[in-house]
Amino acid sequence: MQSKQNDSHIKRMADLLRQGATLTDLACPNCSSPLFRLQDGTLWCGKDEKKVVVVKEGEEPPKTEGNSGMDKLETILMAKVQDLQVKIEKTNNVEELGKLASALNELLSSLEKIKKMNKS
Ligand SMILES: [Zn+2]
Repeated sequence: MQSKQNDSHIKRMADLLRQGATLTDLACPNCSSPLFRLQDGTLWCGKDEKKVVVVKEGEEPPKTEGNSGMDKLETILMAKVQDLQVKIEKTNNVEELGKLASALNELLSSLEKIKKMNKS
């Protein structure tokens, strides 16, 4: 089972999505979590619960040779996250939402790991 703290983290992210926030492919410079874009355009880290300013938005980070496999995996995971986002937006079923949210959490932590690996 998930810890209480983890549950509220998932809930906050699910809430953000339900409020119309969208997941971006940008990572939090602080914790490497994927960032959300709120409806007013603000970038938001659901993990740190704070606004994030990305200076060079839209600019691709420099790619290093040899991690294209990881890049591909990251792209696939992002697509799955977006797929889950759509499902979370559509469902009103609490049980289903719980399942979707924990799947989302798994994906997000995988993405975090990949982003950290790409950094080092
Ligand atoms: Zn963060």
